[in-house]
Amino acid sequence: MNPKHLLPLSSQELHDWALEKDQQDTLRSFRERFYHPQHNGKTLVYLCGNSLGLQPKSAREAIDRELTTWQNYGVEGWFEGEESWLGYHRYCQQSLAKIVGALPEEVCPMNHLTVNLHLMWTSFYQPTAQHYKVLTVAGDFPSDQYAIETHLKFRGYDPATALIEVAPRKGEYTVRTEDLLDAIRQNANELALVCMSGLHYYTGQVYDMEAIATLAHQYGIIVGFDLAHAAGNIPLRLHDWGVDFAVWCSYKYLNSGPGGVSGVFVHEKHHNASVQRLAGWWGYDEARRFEMTKGFVPMQGAAGWQLSTPNIMALAVHRASLAVFEEAGIENLRTKSVALTGFLEVMIQRLNQKAETEKIRLMTPSEPAQRGCQLSLLIDNEGKKVFDYLTAQGIIGDWREPNCIRLSPIPLYNCFEDVWKVGEALENYWNF
Ligand SMILES: *Cc1c(COP(=O)(O)O)cnc(C)c1O
Repeated sequence: MNPKHLLPLSSQELHDWALEKDQQDTLRSFRERFYHPQHNGKTLVYLCGNSLGLQPKSAREAIDRELTTWQNYGVEGWFEGEESWLGYHRYCQQSLAKIVGALPEEVCPMNHLTVNLHLMWTSFYQPTAQHYKVLTVAGDFPSDQYAIETHLKFRGYDPATALIEVAPRKGEYTVRTEDLLDAIRQNANELALVCMSGLHYYTGQVYDMEAIATLAHQYGIIVGFDLAHAAGNIPLRLHDWGVDFAVWCSYKYLNSGPGGVSGVFVHEKHHNASVQRLAGWWGYDEARRFEMTKGFVPMQGAAGWQLSTPNIMALAVHRASLAVFEEAGIENLRTKSVALTGFLEVMIQRLNQKAETEKIRLMTPSEPAQRGCQLSLLIDNEGKKVFDYLTAQGIIGDWREPNCIRLSPIPLYNCFEDVWKVGEALENYWNF
């Protein structure tokens, strides 16, 4: 799609164009596989899947199935029934692996995101007297900042000296890849770990994970990514990129419910029982777990980092949601996503053209390879008023102080007409 030809169209013509795109969309039917929130009997335009993905209609049935197993088998549900609970993570591994570009045994759903970040650090942050520093991006998601800060202190380091944060240049919103790579080169003598988000939650910028991992590895530096905003959103090839570890949550783009199970990736090269870890019985060799013997023997692969009895209800929803991704195909989803977000960008350019001034500035890079679904809109002074207006028009985005609206058209359940409605509402707000 070359969106530029859309700029001169009238609102009516754009609407027709959007409806036609929706007609041609081979993923169109997936919209009906989700519950769309309503307000006063009207279906809302939900552009907040970067915060909490919508509920797949198959989720309820998935939970119901496990409730029935519990009802009929009690504790024997771990071993009995069509699909026993004991190896439940396996029902998710295949489809998760496709989403993050990994081997099935390199991924495992478990715990919660921030917990997993700490867990991965216990294994992969191995400072020495010479190499103890950590490199990250400035202004990453708060939970990651707190995890890094406290973990460094816990290991006896002062974050003020042990943590290197790479920030955007003055007057820019996003971090240049060259600056990240330069910082790695300049600090290579002291770095133990590069750990940062793969897609920034605020700006929507995708970092060049492959380039970062490749360069860091030349210096023997370990690389881990938080993919909370990347998993299920953009194409990932964690195995091929050689990333050492990654973590993500499932309640954003992976539509697996509020507080749903998180996931980890541990590269095959680290599938070694001697890798240090904080263990629990659920990571113990499954075949012998119930022998309850002394001495920890980990399961092979990422599953060997599991700690506790998993939440089967959360896993059941996760599995049902991942099945929808399998069916739609992540390549197809990405193609539609690029087009949808491109259309949203055009609607904003159109508005700025009409206003003859930049009413809305985009923090998010314009290059599709450097972003996923999300666009982060900066609106001076009246940002909150615009946000409230959109909400009153039934358009759900999210607000970040002091002046940012994040909107994320999701290829599984949003359509081109949704995006058109946003453009129309913005033009109405400014009376164009
Ligand atoms: C959403 C998000 C989190 C949230 O962590 P939880 O442990 O799931 O509450 C953490 N980090 C990033 C980068 C996020 O986007």
